[in-house]
This record gives sequence, structure tokens and C-alpha cells, in this order.
Amino acid sequence: MLVRKRILVTGAGGFIGHHLVKRLKGEGCWVRGVDIKEPEYGASAADEFELLDLRKYENCLLATRGGVEQVYNLAADMGGIGYISASRAGIARNNILINTQMLEASRLNAVSRFLFSSSACVYAQYKQRMTEVTPLREEDAYPADPEPGYGWEKLFTEEMCRYYWQDYRFETRIVRFHNVYGPLGTYEGGKEKAPAAISRKVALAPDGGEIDIWGDGEQTRSFLYVDDCVEGLLRLMSSDYGEPLNLGMDRLISINELVDLVSKIAGKRLAKQHDLSKPQGVRGRNSDNSRLRQTLGWEPTISLQEGLAVTYRWIESELHRAGRLNVVHAATNAD
Ligand code: NAD
Repeated sequence: MLVRKRILVTGAGGFIGHHLVKRLKGEGCWVRGVDIKEPEYGASAADEFELLDLRKYENCLLATRGGVEQVYNLAADMGGIGYISASRAGIARNNILINTQMLEASRLNAVSRFLFSSSACVYAQYKQRMTEVTPLREEDAYPADPEPGYGWEKLFTEEMCRYYWQDYRFETRIVRFHNVYGPLGTYEGGKEKAPAAISRKVALAPDGGEIDIWGDGEQTRSFLYVDDCVEGLLRLMSSDYGEPLNLGMDRLISINELVDLVSKIAGKRLAKQHDLSKPQGVRGRNSDNSRLRQTLGWEPTISLQEGLAVTYRWIESELHRAGRLNVVHAATNAD
């Protein structure tokens, strides 16, 4: 069904976009990738890769020109909890510009389907106050109380997608990602998420050493490996489902347990130093995958152990290549 389709991926220089472009090329599609920056860890597989700032409307028109049939709109100003807590105005403004203008440009350029990458950050904070949280169903986004800034913008753009369907019969798909991780994701600099940050800290720590953890580490999350994420995206895009849909794993794990898992993969014994001054986000968050199973007849399958092992080895090898791990370390871990 996807053969020779003309597809635009925005955010193609980012983590999920880079993997998605590769997969779409593997499916035989023609792909244009657009981003404000080049991919950090290797060239894009896209047929065309264009550097465009999608906060500017004329660039959204350029990105969607030339008979593009489907748009995966992944471009966003985003990062881990430290980043999204510290820059609410900037994030909300940048993303509202990208998303509203990409919707309009796609409609005017006769794109037949537009996928918006929303987030579990749209879910009401009052439903996420306990570590043993009830998995979040799609309807739990209302009455609204999302993450300030980033979550409000995602929720508003979900509404915009609905209005575009109601007013123009413009077809949209809305995915709510829950913590996607894997190789080729940012692992330092402030925009990295927990699995990448923890993998980096574990890789850099000597066996028997100590690493710092944000909060008391009892906060819980679920984590989705990027290959499952890309599979879910393709399935959602080709489905006829226009309402928001969770795309996440439903295995709940605390950050302390995540650290233990990564330490085991690395073969290290490490002490945890908890930094209670750092933001930790909601207390607990898990994905209810009932609607995902029902709608797509599918759910993610790659286990956290499997996905983390690949991710950890990739981050370790990047640090090794940058000369930041001593030889003894790297050799031990490669055994
Ligand atoms: P990412 O930061 O790696 O990729 C986003 C890309 O968008 C970046 O390459 C960035 O340069 C680009 N971008 C930012 N501003 C731009 C602009 N003005 N013009 C053009 N490009 C711009 O993030 P990701 O993890 O690949 O996330 C992809 C999408 O999924 C985002 O919309 C994000 O909000 C959403 N999401 C991701 C997760 C996750 O766990 N990774 C969770 C929830 C939602």
C-alpha cells in the first residue's frame, strides 16, 4: 500500500524522524525529510533533505510542495523533563507555530493525510499523582490539566486536527507517544530523556562508583523502543482511525529499577545519589493499550531489556569513539 508514495517527514533530523525515514525508504516510498538541523548521528536516508525553519509559514508551504501525499509531522522543540520545565513560553510558541502552519500548508497543498505526534504529556496531571498509577486511557486527557507549556500545546494541536477534519474534511492521525528510546537519540546536552541520560551516566561511571538520579527515583514510567514506535506509526497512518491513540509500552517501571537494569546490562555495581532538587515530572505514568490493540490489531513487542541493551551499547560506543571512556572500561563492557 505504501509503495512509491510521496511522503514528507518533518523533524527528520531528530531521533524518531531519522528512524522513520529509513523505514519508509525500506518500504519503497519517496521521502522528503525536513528539519532545522542535520541529523547528528549519520546521514538521512531521505531522497531529499531540506533545512527549513518550520516556524515560518512560507517554509511549511515549501516543505509540503510537489505532490506530497502524506505528512508525518514530528518536528518539535522538545526534550526531557528538565528542558520542558525550564522553557515553557519558548516551547509552546515554537510548537504552535510549527503545528498550526504545517496543518494549513498541508491542506492547501492537497496532502491527503497528516499525522501529528502528540505526547503522554497531554494527560491530566491529577491522574498521575501515584507511583502505582492506573494506566492512562485516551479519554483521561479531559478534564484538561496537561503538562504546562509542552503538554498544553500538544493538546491544543490535537484539537486543531479535529477542527481541520470538521471544517475541511482534512484527514489527520494523532499519536500520543509514551517515552520513546533507542539508538541515535540525544544522550546529553539537556534535551535527553531518562533512558539515554541513565545509559550515559552508567557508561561513564567506574564499576563500584556512584551516579546521580533526579528525584527519589521512585517515580514510574513505561518506555517504548523506537522500532516498535516506527511500526506503530506506519500502522496508524494507514488505518482509518482519526482520534488520538496511545503508542507506548504498558510495562511500568520505576527510575531506580531502570538504573538497576542498565547497570546490569553494563555489568557494573553502582550506588545511586538522589538529587531531590531536580524536576521529576508526574509521579507515575503508564499507557493503557486497549484501544491500540483494538484499533490496529497490534501492540509493541520489544522488551525493555532487549531495547535497553541495544541503546546502552550504542551510547557506550559513542562515548568510546569520543575518547571519553578509558580502554579498560570499553573492553570490559564489550565482553
Ligand atoms: P527530536 O528532538 O529528536 O526531534 C525533533 C526534531 O524537530 C529535531 O531534530 C529538531 O531539530 C526539529 N525541529 C525543532 N524545531 C524545528 C523547526 N522550527 N523547524 C524544523 N524542525 C524543527 O525528538 P523526537 O524524540 O524524535 O520526537 C519527535 C516528535 O515526537 C516530537 O513532536 C515530540 O514532541 C514527539 N514526542 C516524542 C517523545 C519521545 O519520547 N521521544 C514523547 C512524546 C512525544
